[in-house]
Amino acid sequence: MKYWNEELETKPWAEVEQWQAGQIAAMLKDLRRRSLLYAELHAGVARDLPLRGFADLQALPFTLKDHVRAAQEAASDERPFGRNQAMAKSEIVQAIASSGTTGKPLYYALTQRDTEMFTDAIANTWFTGGVRKGDTVAHLVGLPMVAGGMPYAEGFRRIGATLCWLGGFPTDRILRELRNLRCTTLLATTSFGLYLADQWEQLGREPGAVPSHLHTVLCGGEPGLNQPEIRERITHGLGIKALRECMGLGDVVSAMWCECEHGGGMHFNAQKYVAIELIDPATGEVRPWEDGATGEIVYTTFARDATPVVRYRSRDHALITGVGACKCGRTSPRIRCIGRTDDMLIYKGMNVFPTAIRDLITTHFSGRVEPLLRIWKESRDQVRFDAPIPVDVEVAEAFSIEHGQALARQIEEQVRGQLQVRVAVNVLAHGELPRGVYKNSLLAVREPA
Ligand SMILES: [Zn+2]
Repeated sequence: MKYWNEELETKPWAEVEQWQAGQIAAMLKDLRRRSLLYAELHAGVARDLPLRGFADLQALPFTLKDHVRAAQEAASDERPFGRNQAMAKSEIVQAIASSGTTGKPLYYALTQRDTEMFTDAIANTWFTGGVRKGDTVAHLVGLPMVAGGMPYAEGFRRIGATLCWLGGFPTDRILRELRNLRCTTLLATTSFGLYLADQWEQLGREPGAVPSHLHTVLCGGEPGLNQPEIRERITHGLGIKALRECMGLGDVVSAMWCECEHGGGMHFNAQKYVAIELIDPATGEVRPWEDGATGEIVYTTFARDATPVVRYRSRDHALITGVGACKCGRTSPRIRCIGRTDDMLIYKGMNVFPTAIRDLITTHFSGRVEPLLRIWKESRDQVRFDAPIPVDVEVAEAFSIEHGQALARQIEEQVRGQLQVRVAVNVLAHGELPRGVYKNSLLAVREPA
């Protein structure tokens, strides 16, 4: 078996979209009856909107995260998931929570059919990433309720792989179980992947250590794998054959994008249940999927019963790295995530993604700094900076901290020259920045003194 769903994965993308248009039209028929949110949002749209082709989707308004949040805040006893709860409470079999790194968590509901859809789409995503029956997969997300918790686990089991849910154990235990259980595949955040890569070899030298069986690492949760240095360190440190980036969204489906064996950007793998559009984030205009294009990804779920979303703005900005048939035969567009609108910072009128600062520093100063860094905000809501943006950088193991001041000035110069924003670099000793198992935030908020 080469594909999880050969027909949909290899059909020309325009035909996939045409098929999706039919699915969306059927879903829209009773959406307004089921969801109070869409009764309101779609009130101005003709009830018999003819969805003849995929482009007709553009007649529908966008759904924003604020809409979803406000809908949830109107929760009641009947509708604990709020005004977008589109199924009776008795039909809901699972609640998912966003990881809640910013503000209150958002909740999503799944019916039995939704969990089936999630599991199949996520399994498809892992399959594209190279996971097969016979693999033993270490799942390092410690919280079952988050989008990357139980849904990811079920995706692995659906493929027939052996699930080892190690998330939640202390790190040293995770490291030992990985070897003892002969794990072949690992799912982790990029930063944890790096941490592991640093420890792996040393652990293998302990008396009685089981030789490593790892060959594939799925990395996601943070955009960062577009840096060759990070890839090289994880691949080399863990001695693996394949490092595949993956991405999803709890509001839509927890894992939808993953790189195939040819790399070069993540394929979309949820086409059986979810439609995607690329838009200009400033004007909302739809952009064609073209090599080199950038834009925000917009999602429409046409098989999510309990908490559906239509033209949902993800705030994820992507660079299109490939369209048309890939060498693997898959036809879905390939992307790299380049940042999130939510994270955008403004220094004296210049917009900058924190990821752009990180990518520049860690690529240009590779060998001298760690590929991790931390950008400080005074408050959670701070977007504008009038003073240089504070950045903590950690030196590489081989680099002497004595030269830290000179390094800091060089980094500041480089960032100013390349990105037209000023940063104030604080150099930390090796190992001083925290490494998390689940979603390490690049942005940190200073606690009030
Ligand atoms: Zn491919």
